Amino acid sequence: MDATFLAKIKSDFPDIRFVSGKRFSFRPPKTVVVEPDGEPLLLLHEIGHALIEKYDFKTEVGRLKIEVMAWEKARELASSYKVAIDEDLIETELDTYRDWLHQKSRCPKCGLTRFQTPDGTFYCPKCDVN
Ligand SMILES: [Zn+2]
Ligand SMILES: [Zn+2]
Repeated sequence: MDATFLAKIKSDFPDIRFVSGKRFSFRPPKTVVVEPDGEPLLLLHEIGHALIEKYDFKTEVGRLKIEVMAWEKARELASSYKVAIDEDLIETELDTYRDWLHQKSRCPKCGLTRFQTPDGTFYCPKCDVN
């Protein structure tokens, strides 16, 4: 990643703590892990997480919504920082996320997609409901 770009980002977001790491990630409330050779767009996505200030990670649907919101923020930031918006990259990231959610919501007994209550508990429509 361009050092000038990263320096600009750091000075524009003094509230966010930037640390170097192996993979981009966001740690609530205000830490962004930066992959030094990673895509600038992914950095903007993690900043998006810090800016929307939503950490409802209890339900999987809530998490997916947050991902989409963070990408919306990343798009806004990308246009002000003149970073190319790679739609394929965004779709791939979201697909990975969707696959993971799908995997996680599968009932281990029968394979049906379970649903989740607001407190995060999974229920299988076949095995857990009478
Ligand atoms: Zn994200
Ligand atoms: Zn089941």
